[in-house]
Amino acid sequence: MPENRRFLLVRRPHGTPVPEDFSLVSEAIPTPPPGGFVVRNHYASLDPAQRGWMDDAPSYMPPIPLGDPVRATTVGVVHSSDNPDFPPGQWVLGMNALEDYSVSAPGGFTMPIDISIVDSPSKYLSAMGAVGLTGYFGLLEVAKPQAGETLLVSGAAGAVGSVVGQIGKIAGLKVVGIAGGGEKCRRLIEDYGFDAAIDYKGKSVKHLAAEIHAALPEGANIIFENVGGDVMDAELLNLAKKARVVLCGLISEYNAPERIGVRNLWQVLAQEATLYGYLVMDYAPRFAEAGAIMAEWMAEGRLRIDEDVQTGLENTYDVFMRLFSGANTGKLVLQIA
Ligand code: NAP
Repeated sequence: MPENRRFLLVRRPHGTPVPEDFSLVSEAIPTPPPGGFVVRNHYASLDPAQRGWMDDAPSYMPPIPLGDPVRATTVGVVHSSDNPDFPPGQWVLGMNALEDYSVSAPGGFTMPIDISIVDSPSKYLSAMGAVGLTGYFGLLEVAKPQAGETLLVSGAAGAVGSVVGQIGKIAGLKVVGIAGGGEKCRRLIEDYGFDAAIDYKGKSVKHLAAEIHAALPEGANIIFENVGGDVMDAELLNLAKKARVVLCGLISEYNAPERIGVRNLWQVLAQEATLYGYLVMDYAPRFAEAGAIMAEWMAEGRLRIDEDVQTGLENTYDVFMRLFSGANTGKLVLQIA
């Protein structure tokens, strides 16, 4: 008999999550609430942000309640419905959870998607979804690049970073990426067309700052920050005058029991730079417009999107931790169905 497996948060992680913070349970498949529907999840997005939602701390979204499944963006098919706008069989993208079946009540965030225009429905979690578009809007709308400027990207080989760097090249920028390890640095240049790549692993702030300076002696007009900590401290020592810093993420802090912070913030003042806090969801009304442009760039071979698709809800913990070991090669997606 089919069942609904659900990956629950049962304890708030202290630092790095451990398997005991979660529990995989089986329940009956839910039925649609009045005006709502039930989605059979096929693919779920695994994102660094989910780690933040596990903490009981103020953020842009409420913490995941203990005993609830871990919140996730999913792509799936309407299984049963009490809403004529979402009939059974309709493919949808929505904010759901790490579970086989999710209930979508009226007012929840779910939108129909057209899977005939993509090679895999998972593309709605990478190129055409919030993660790919994080790079698009963060660079083009927040940093507002001018051709000929310089762009420094951290977390550069990841889902967001690789998109930022490639769009930077489309916009006519000199692009330098920072990533962990020689293989990722090779991919930055050969697969994504970055001008230079720097491996941050095992380097002091001073050493890393010197390597950035060698690659960008003119300084960075734009920093696209995904990492924070020592990496950001080294970047801040390489700001060009009036630089723009897009604060997109701080993954080096997500599993730290205490906030790490940056120590070279005074450089923002010294270089009269601007630091932008940035959330992609502000741009949700424009996702379709930007997704169409991303699709065009992909079709023209100007934008490469790599996905790291892992399978099995029962493997969720190990798959999720790939984000923090750096094992993921591209957008991390969990195939559930
Ligand atoms: P991702 O880059 O595909 O995967 C995470 C990568 O982060 C890992 O592969 C690893 O790459 C790096 N990393 C992990 N722990 C690290 C550490 N302690 N120090 C340095 N690097 C570390 O993930 P993503 O989905 O594209 O997310 C990238 C960033 O964007 C995250 O900070 C995320 O929170 C942020 N984000 C923000 C928004 C927004 O609206 N503001 C939306 C989506 C994502 P290496 O092997 O190179 O270390």
